[in-house]
Amino acid sequence: MTTVSVVLHAPAWGPQHTTPCQAEPELFFPVSEDGPRSIAQITKAKRLCRGCSRVEDCLQNALDEGHDHGIWGGTTTAERRDIRRRRKTAGAAR
Ligand code: SF4
Repeated sequence: MTTVSVVLHAPAWGPQHTTPCQAEPELFFPVSEDGPRSIAQITKAKRLCRGCSRVEDCLQNALDEGHDHGIWGGTTTAERRDIRRRRKTAGAAR
């Protein structure tokens, strides 16, 4: 499980780029986005993402690849869904 999560969270930047999620990958996969334990877990993961040098690349990769579970680039599944919806709406309005 840990190995898979590390690979999932370092898709393009390889082992020379250490990111916070590589040290604690399980933190970035809460069982849900509700409830005090999950919310505390998500808050901690997002705080680590904010200090990550790859946060923008990570979010874009998650959006491009359609990752629908876990914290990526400082966002939850629901937040990425909102970003996709807003981008789609903005694209349709042009
Ligand atoms: S932004 Fe977050 S999930 Fe993405 S590589 Fe950095 S620490 Fe990991």
